[in-house]
Amino acid sequence: MGENTKKTIKTIKVDMDKCNGCRTCEMICSAFHAVPKYSSVNPARSRIRLIRHPLRDIYVPVHAGEYVNAECAGRDKYVINGKEYEECAFCRASCPSREEFKEPDSGLPLTCDMCEGEDEPLCVKWCLNDALTYEEREEEVEEDEIKAQTEMEIGLEALADRFGLEKITDAVARMREKEQ
Ligand code: SF4
Ligand code: SF4
Repeated sequence: MGENTKKTIKTIKVDMDKCNGCRTCEMICSAFHAVPKYSSVNPARSRIRLIRHPLRDIYVPVHAGEYVNAECAGRDKYVINGKEYEECAFCRASCPSREEFKEPDSGLPLTCDMCEGEDEPLCVKWCLNDALTYEEREEEVEEDEIKAQTEMEIGLEALADRFGLEKITDAVARMREKEQ
């Protein structure tokens, strides 16, 4: 059995009643993750996206969760104030069956990284309506449970799923040859 250690669980609490659909969170998230940082604003590259239904005054911010390489078998249907939403509307995953939470040019998965390196997630900081609240708590977990994947690993996994590991390794080998 592995050693017990503390893990910080980071969450963003969403208060739908306070969200007015301004989409500032999408803009700041995409700007922060642009390369170079803040060089562009494109909500399609945001790791938070807003499900909108202005006529019924419903706005639900959803953060990008884990990348999954298969479609899930069971799906949920939501009806809010009489409006029925698509089956995958509130799902946080980047998965093969839909376009949400994918880099528009490369198709690589986008995952919320809680704005790594910042004191507070930027979508929380910039939401002037206080619809988003950042919370941290410590939990005891077994050491081998801590396997945080880097963004590069997630991207590589997605590429390998799409093209096959062999093609990726061949391409890397060719790139190395060019560099030498
Ligand atoms: S910035 Fe806040 S109020 Fe505006 S869309 Fe995002 S969560 Fe909603
Ligand atoms: S916490 Fe950072 S990375 Fe995550 S959705 Fe908010 S702005 Fe984007």
